[in-house]
Amino acid sequence: MTVRPRGRRGGGEGVTVFFIAGLTSRIKALASGQFFCPTEQATRRYQHLQERRWFTLFFIPLIPVGGQREWVQCEGCGTTYGPGVIQQHPAPYQQ
Ligand SMILES: [Zn+2]
Repeated sequence: MTVRPRGRRGGGEGVTVFFIAGLTSRIKALASGQFFCPTEQATRRYQHLQERRWFTLFFIPLIPVGGQREWVQCEGCGTTYGPGVIQQHPAPYQQ
């Protein structure tokens, strides 16, 4: 294996800076528990999820962009509801 010295000499060495910027969505679970799924008419587990969009630089989320979105997803059938569904349809019994 040989290492060749670079042929170019003198000034003109530029500085190359790469900016890798973009947007990413992050979904995080705020809570989970049991509720009465209106679709299945049965007690199911739910996840209360929140999605936020972030401006990223070098794949690191730096600044939240825009609003956030929250929803409740039934783990049984996958149907999504507004967050109020937990209060409207609480689980009929608690373990
Ligand atoms: Zn369901």
